[in-house]
Amino acid sequence: MRADDFIAVPASDTGAAARSSGPLSVLATLRADPRQAVTEDSIRCLVCAGAFRQLTNTHLRAHGVSAAQYKIRFGYNRGRPLMCRSLARMYADRARSAGLAARIRQRPILFEPELRRRGGARSISLEELLTRREMRQREAMQRTESSRWVAPTGA
Ligand SMILES: [Zn+2]
Repeated sequence: MRADDFIAVPASDTGAAARSSGPLSVLATLRADPRQAVTEDSIRCLVCAGAFRQLTNTHLRAHGVSAAQYKIRFGYNRGRPLMCRSLARMYADRARSAGLAARIRQRPILFEPELRRRGGARSISLEELLTRREMRQREAMQRTESSRWVAPTGA
């Protein structure tokens, strides 16, 4: 039996189908709406119906597909992270705080000629300067976040 021979089950029947039938009918259901394969705590592989926290490159390679091919084959968006929602959120948060930490490590005096001229004196102007820069960074970060998803690499 080929994968394409499965009959799709309406989305509203997903729960019942998953409980009463085998993995094949679960697969048919999820393939009809691949978004349903991704839940808070798991992502179902649409090839083997296995439930995982994320679909690693190693796992997909075992099925003979790359992550990109997998997404095309099952109709996912190109930018869709192949992992459960909680994990995707964690990676996004981690990326965000890594970016913040990198910026905090920068010593303002090295990057701001105006501060160098003042001999690094702390002043209201410095605060103002930092505030403005943080606002610029925040705006830049928001633009980046809304336009990009960086997929975690490796297994
Ligand atoms: Zn699989």
